[in-house]
Amino acid sequence: MHVMREDLLKDPVFAMAIEQFDQVADFLELSDDLRERCKWPKRWITVTVPIRMDDGSTKIFFGHRVQHHLTRGPVKGGLRYHPAVSIGEITALAIWMTWKCALMDLPFGGGKGGIACDPSTMSQGELERLTRRYTMEMIPFIGPDTDVMAPDMGTNEQTMAWMADTYSTHSGHLEPSIVTGKPLTLEGSSGRTRATGHGVAFLSSNALDHLGHKANGGSAIIQGFGNVGSHAAHTLDSYGVSIKGISDVHGAIWNDKQIHLAHLRKHVAKTGSVAGFPEAEPIDPEEMLTQPCDILAPCALDRAITGENAGRLQCRILAEGANGPTTPEADRILNERGDVFIIPDVLCNAGGVTVSYFEWVQNMQRFRWTEREVMSRLETMLQKAQSEVLRFAKRHKLTQRTAAQAIGVRNVANAKAARGLFP
Ligand code: NAD
Repeated sequence: MHVMREDLLKDPVFAMAIEQFDQVADFLELSDDLRERCKWPKRWITVTVPIRMDDGSTKIFFGHRVQHHLTRGPVKGGLRYHPAVSIGEITALAIWMTWKCALMDLPFGGGKGGIACDPSTMSQGELERLTRRYTMEMIPFIGPDTDVMAPDMGTNEQTMAWMADTYSTHSGHLEPSIVTGKPLTLEGSSGRTRATGHGVAFLSSNALDHLGHKANGGSAIIQGFGNVGSHAAHTLDSYGVSIKGISDVHGAIWNDKQIHLAHLRKHVAKTGSVAGFPEAEPIDPEEMLTQPCDILAPCALDRAITGENAGRLQCRILAEGANGPTTPEADRILNERGDVFIIPDVLCNAGGVTVSYFEWVQNMQRFRWTEREVMSRLETMLQKAQSEVLRFAKRHKLTQRTAAQAIGVRNVANAKAARGLFP
């Protein structure tokens, strides 16, 4: 355990999650035993996933699943396909999922999975074989009451459909509640695809209201134009916010008036990237982040806001659509500045897991909600969590990040204390 602990701490994303947790545990004055039990994951599962590639060769991929804790229900969390996937990063993401589920008061613990691969260079056939073999390797450890996966970076509803099919073939009957984020034809939930991005936009608009500004007529910059970024852009646009800058892994674009989203979507469908959009100027992706705007929403990778650029941000609101987009050093700089209102990731992108919860509930009950019901329940729950974080932060003079995580950690610690320690 000691070796593992030291190895994990070398991972910067894991170190970030632990530094944040230690701050929260100090504030909550958690006893040493509860602190350690809340911190460490229940299970790390690493498997090799051998796949026959299209050229006839066999390639081995490394796949992980970290189950942080099962104290309040099954583990819930995304599955990521990305070349930089590491066990330390996946562990950190699982830990953050725990606090997010507990903050939203969902009956889940946190989990995260990942396969180190580059999906952009793989064929659909290769991705399907990778997904099915990974699911098969995970079968002893997952189930609707044990661990329920969902899409994350590099995975989508097709990935979830293959997972549901593999699991259902194994169990001999359709088991839709094994994953969330499925296509509607396979008992997915209305509203799931846009839930995370919609939540980012909804909470940002509430935050502007809180600061005495209107969303309508405001401006936004969005890093990442995948599931989260594109839907955040869409809802913000519907609120009357002008989206001025958007980036993806290939480049960034800028239009001082506003980017026409419907036209951009067509361009992305044709070329695969926002880069080269004829109705906007190219801009350096790093420079884009520091342009003046009301809402800056990093919706791509972790550690986008760093000690290097935090001092130069010119946004009113930093809406953390991605997980872990702000390093602790950047956090310190922004807190000292005091002029940027941060909506921390565990709150800001919680729309996704909340509608995943709705999907799981609908699947368990073999019942379907309308999109209107889903979105209205989602907004009610996000609003409640945001108000709770604001109140908690004010009462205890904490940052919103520490407040949001403290509510989550407190709920987990209380559940662990109530269950007691077996044997
Ligand atoms: P996605 O794969 O659909 O999209 C990721 C986007 O980020 C793509 O547009 C990609 O080109 C872009 N990108 C990658 N590297 C970049 C870089 N260096 N600079 C700028 N853009 C870059 O992924 P997603 O599902 O939208 O997830 C994005 C983030 O949101 C991740 O941190 C994920 O963990 C988090 N998140 C996602 C969900 C969800 O429901 N999908 C829920 C909660 C949190």
